[in-house]
Amino acid sequence: MQADEFEGQVVLITGGARGQGRSHALAYAERGADVAICDRCADSEAIGYLLGTQSDLDETKRQVEQRGRRCVAGTVDTGDRAAMDAFVALVQQELGGIDVAIANAGVSDGAAITDHPQALWDEVVGSNLTGVFNTVAAVAPGMAERGYGRVVTISSMMGRSSGPNMAAYCASKWGVIGMSKSAAQELAHSGVTVNVITPGNIDTPMVKNDALYAKVRPDLDSPTWDDAASVLGQLHAQPIAVMPPEDVTRVVLFLTAEASVHLTGIVVPVDAGWSTRTS
Ligand code: NAD
Repeated sequence: MQADEFEGQVVLITGGARGQGRSHALAYAERGADVAICDRCADSEAIGYLLGTQSDLDETKRQVEQRGRRCVAGTVDTGDRAAMDAFVALVQQELGGIDVAIANAGVSDGAAITDHPQALWDEVVGSNLTGVFNTVAAVAPGMAERGYGRVVTISSMMGRSSGPNMAAYCASKWGVIGMSKSAAQELAHSGVTVNVITPGNIDTPMVKNDALYAKVRPDLDSPTWDDAASVLGQLHAQPIAVMPPEDVTRVVLFLTAEASVHLTGIVVPVDAGWSTRTS
């Protein structure tokens, strides 16, 4: 991959305050793109771990600018269509037409179907499915009009499988795949591609938090990362509990390259072999 592969392009990334979103933002900046990032920068009462903060978002912006590129950062909840439309309009005004969009923002939590808070369903589906739809729908008109676009949506290995206490998360992530494939067909005549990545366990605060350790190890009183890692490691076929965000970034860059013009509507697992067991 060339160092200037995205020179002069404009890339929008949701959930860019930290984790995978930050990794993607810095990789594009290093390859010559201007970057727009947004994040809700607020916690959710329905989610059992802390979400990205304003200072996380500021730090991603600082690191993009440190790499010599422009950065527009916005505090936006992707579940709010009007806010997403306004952010896209701002980015187009400040940086120009959007070439690449990564619909990455999401949350992860679960509950038993026999005792499932409605607020948890609404939050997970609102952020992970409606938020991804809102992102794609907000950028698609500009891309179609300009006759060029590369969109990647982030699903999960749970978007091809299932698990106990994961009804909302699995529904949202399966939904991302169906929505993205439909968008790929619609946009196939417009020079716009839409592809999906289904990550396995990635080393971000979504996985590295006490609430997740307690869910994974209900047999222990105060489980640590090491306790959780022994269980998470069994999900992947390869002997690794979590992969670095850069493993996903590498595939994001590949799918959004100009040369990947005839790849559209595909689902790429970055899951250390999980999908060998499911599809
Ligand atoms: P993360 O929690 O570190 O980052 C996600 C970011 O998205 C946070 O900064 C959060 O504030 C933001 N966000 C959440 N809901 C939002 C909303 N409605 N509007 C705007 N911003 C919002 O986690 P991550 O691992 O970087 O997650 C990125 C994506 O990867 C998510 O879609 C997640 O479901 C998916 N994923 C993660 C894993 C994993 O193991 N970490 C595995 C499979 C899929």
